[in-house]
Amino acid sequence: MLSVALPKGRIAEETLEIFEKIFGEAFRFDDRKLILETEGFKFLLVRNQDVPAYVLHQAADIGVVGLDVLEEKDEDLIRLLDLKIGKCKVCVGIANDKKLDYSLPEITIATKMSNISQRYFSKKAMGVKIIKLYGSIELAPLVGLSDAIVDIVDTGNTMKQNGLKVVETIMDSSAYLIANKNSFIEKKEEIISLYEKINNVIS
Ligand code: AMP
Repeated sequence: MLSVALPKGRIAEETLEIFEKIFGEAFRFDDRKLILETEGFKFLLVRNQDVPAYVLHQAADIGVVGLDVLEEKDEDLIRLLDLKIGKCKVCVGIANDKKLDYSLPEITIATKMSNISQRYFSKKAMGVKIIKLYGSIELAPLVGLSDAIVDIVDTGNTMKQNGLKVVETIMDSSAYLIANKNSFIEKKEEIISLYEKINNVIS
């Protein structure tokens, strides 16, 4: 039995579709239920950003989570496989009429992704002041809370609708299959077998 932490929403649905393809049976959570037990698996439905914690503490053996979240949390987890779903980019956005001025001694960035942002601007030898927000990031530069934002971009519509433009792409992201290090030793055969099956249906 493997326990699998899935991030609520589209990625969980697409992951369960992969499992359906492999095992030829339906994997559906009952309305509002957060646990789905089948013969071989126990699926847990958790918040995207919480997937690494469930897997790190072995409440789940494996999980599926965006590379952006993995890079932000930087936990000691095994990255098994790029599932190539949930593709998006982590970008720097700024007001349409502004420029990103790399000669500034310090830039103020509003973001959910403090660590990714800190690392990125440090590499450019820029001082950065991070204002950590939990949502509606695009608002911050419009009301003078920050010079720019670092946020996830999919279609680009959210930034566009709010008068912002992408000036830099920090990284490409997609959903990864991850594993707990101990689980990977204790349940190596099960995990490798699943890995191979998933790899076969996605490639
Ligand atoms: P878009 O308008 O399509 O560029 O989507 C950007 C907005 O949707 C941002 O506010 C993101 O926080 C959110 N978003 C889009 N794709 C993802 C993803 N794969 N994971 C998490 N958030 C996302």
